[in-house]
Amino acid sequence: MQAMVLNALHTPLVWTELPDPEPGPGQIRVQVAACGVCRTDLHVVDGELPHPRVPIIPGHEIVGRIDAMGPGVVDLKLGQRIGIPWLGHTCGICPYCRMQRENLCDHPLFTGFTRNGGFATATVADARFAFPLGEEGSDESLAPLLCAGLIGWRSLTIAGEGKNLGLYGFGAAAHILAQVARWQGRSVFAFTRPGDRKTQEFARHLGATWAGGSDEMPPQPLDTAIIFATVGALVPLALKAVRKGGRVVCAGIHMSDIPSYPYNILWEERELLSVANLTRQDGLDFLSQVPKMGIVTRTTRYPLQQANQALADLRAGRFEGAAVLIP
Ligand SMILES: [Zn+2]
Ligand SMILES: [Zn+2]
Repeated sequence: MQAMVLNALHTPLVWTELPDPEPGPGQIRVQVAACGVCRTDLHVVDGELPHPRVPIIPGHEIVGRIDAMGPGVVDLKLGQRIGIPWLGHTCGICPYCRMQRENLCDHPLFTGFTRNGGFATATVADARFAFPLGEEGSDESLAPLLCAGLIGWRSLTIAGEGKNLGLYGFGAAAHILAQVARWQGRSVFAFTRPGDRKTQEFARHLGATWAGGSDEMPPQPLDTAIIFATVGALVPLALKAVRKGGRVVCAGIHMSDIPSYPYNILWEERELLSVANLTRQDGLDFLSQVPKMGIVTRTTRYPLQQANQALADLRAGRFEGAAVLIP
C-alpha cells in the first residue's frame, strides 16, 4: 500500500510505500476510495492535540470497500462499502463507556491520530466502529459526512431545538449542517471571516437566512449557536448574539484561548458547552437520515499524493466546502 505519512510534527506528509496491513481479530481491511480532509488533520500535523503519536497516517473521513476481514467480524461482508470515522475504538469498561458516553472514553483510539487513518490506499479498522454506507451517493460526496457531518450532527443535537441557529465558521461542517438545519425547518445565520464575501454568498446559496462577518451582530437574536472556527475570540461574540437562555456550542477539538469577557453576556441563563468526538449511535442516527435530507456536499478533489496541498489550501481557506483525497 501507499500512504501519506506524518513522520514528525510540523513536517510535511511523506509519500511512503508500506506493507499491506493485515486485519487482526475483529478488524477489517478497507481499500480506500476517498478520504476527506478535516480541520483536525491540521491540528494533528501542528501538534495541537495531547498525546500525539508519530509516525502516523492521518485521515478520518474514510470511504472504502472491505477487501479482507480478521476472525470474529460479523454483519459485514467482503466488497461492502464502509465509512470509517474519527472514533476508532473505545474500551467498553470505563465509567464513560458504561454510561453511554463512549465519546468521552478514558482509553479511546482515534482514526488518523492514534491509529492509522485514510490518507492511504488501504487501512485497517475495528469493524464495530465502521458504518455500512450502502450504495447511494459517490464515495467523494460521502467522505465529508464522516466527520464534518457527524460531529456537526452531534453539535446540532446538543445545540437544542432553537429555530434561529448561528453557525460560526462556514467550512466543511457548517456547509453540511446548514443543509440539515434547513431540512429541519430552522433559519440559519452564517458567520464567516470578516470580509469573506465569497463564503457568505456560498452560505446564502445553501439557504442561509443571513450571512455576514463574525464581527457583526445578526439581525435578530439567535436561539442557539455552534462555533466551528478554531478562534476563541468568537465565544464572547456568540454569547452576545444569543438570546436569554440561549446556548453556545463549541464544536472544535482545539481552539485558541478564549479572551476574558464580562459576566453579563453569560448571565440570564445562557449556556456555553463543548462537543467532543462522537458515539456510534450518533453515526447511526445521522447516516440513517442522510438519504432523506438531500445533502449536497461541495467537494474539492485532490490526488492522495497532494495531501500537503489540500492541507495548505484548507489552512488558507482557499476552497468552499470540503477537500477530499482520492488514491
Ligand atoms: Zn471507555
Ligand atoms: Zn474531523
